[in-house]
Amino acid sequence: MTVQELDKAIRRVPDFPKPGICFYDITSILMNPEAFRYCVDQLAAITKDLNAQVIGAIEARGFLFATPVAQALGLPVLLLRKKGKLPGKTLSKRYALEYGEDEIFVHQEDVTPGSRVVLLDDLIATGGTLKAGGAMLQEAGAMVVGALGVIGLPFLGYEKFLDPVPVRTIITYE
Ligand code: 5GP
Repeated sequence: MTVQELDKAIRRVPDFPKPGICFYDITSILMNPEAFRYCVDQLAAITKDLNAQVIGAIEARGFLFATPVAQALGLPVLLLRKKGKLPGKTLSKRYALEYGEDEIFVHQEDVTPGSRVVLLDDLIATGGTLKAGGAMLQEAGAMVVGALGVIGLPFLGYEKFLDPVPVRTIITYE
């Protein structure tokens, strides 16, 4: 599998969720075991390279990639979830969306101060979700050593927005 073949495995959905937006759909990667394996292997290599101790997975599509990567490396998966999903005591962080705002949550007792965490999502657009997730973990004393995505849209400026946290993606689109 090459990055060109991965590109072919990603479904584009024009005008979703609204006119003028091209949605990069990862369900087509999940339907292609070789492409899925390639993504997991690449993300595992990056995670290892960054000496991460914990994989922070962003709901919901980030979970799909974070879990096999964590299992491959023998690392824990820390779920960063939407409101009302985590039963224990939580930390949270609000963040702005294009219209309105959202909030992300984590189980407080699962964040270890000083631990090296990489955050992982399927796609990085503005970086807003990862920035909020990273800030929440950093405030609890964890070290965010990388922001990982299968797909990146760097023209939206996430590198600068997430600086100094390094961003690593497998494939980017302009
Ligand atoms: P950001 O917070 O970086 O602006 O947006 C990233 C979040 O929106 C991710 O959780 C991602 O799943 C979702 N997202 C935005 N655009 C797309 C897209 O084209 N494809 C996919 N799969 N997810 C997207």
